[in-house]
Amino acid sequence: MYEFEHRLLPRWILTSGAFYNDLMKNGAKQTLYGALKSVYDNRNEEMPYKLEDFNGMNFYTDESTIVAMMKLPDPTEVPQCYRMYMYYDPEIKKIACYTVEKGVDIDGTELRFLCEWDQDGNHKNYGGFHLINMTQMVSQEIRIFQNYFRNTTRTRVPMLLGVSEDGNEGIKCSHCNLDLKFDLSGLKDGDDVMIHCPKCFRVETVKYENGALKRSE
Ligand SMILES: [Zn+2]
Repeated sequence: MYEFEHRLLPRWILTSGAFYNDLMKNGAKQTLYGALKSVYDNRNEEMPYKLEDFNGMNFYTDESTIVAMMKLPDPTEVPQCYRMYMYYDPEIKKIACYTVEKGVDIDGTELRFLCEWDQDGNHKNYGGFHLINMTQMVSQEIRIFQNYFRNTTRTRVPMLLGVSEDGNEGIKCSHCNLDLKFDLSGLKDGDDVMIHCPKCFRVETVKYENGALKRSE
């Protein structure tokens, strides 16, 4: 499994259009299942995973960024992956491969590490995060990886607290108008802040000014 998630898949994603073609044609579920099954078949071993262990979703995070989220079988040991993300532009000129890996904190609690495999086979670690609900995890991961994909690491990525009731500290999604509430602690006046809508998965950069998130006109 390590070999598949950390060597074969990243190489396949980063170095050929073949993966992209398969993904578009057959979908993530079938593509990932088929690829791993052929690894087991080649070793004359029984494939231990089912089709239902795989899944995928596609998002547009901005006009020129497409994200393919790939759900992998639940990790049983460190550092197997919960998910992988392929980020690319419509011309497929810029491609990135990000992993969400199972890890353990000093006190023994489970963590997920947000990492990247680059073209040269280097592994980069962007930090450990606790497990939260699935929608919030995917939302957070998409925003953080978007930062690295677009080299905007100075942009702050606040935690989505949910959909706000009164709209006081919230900001509306520019796409679907959903009222979003973020954890604004630690932000400084003038910070660029990347926000993310859990409903339509629109990513947007706004400004933090006078204690609130503001969209620049
Ligand atoms: Zn929205």
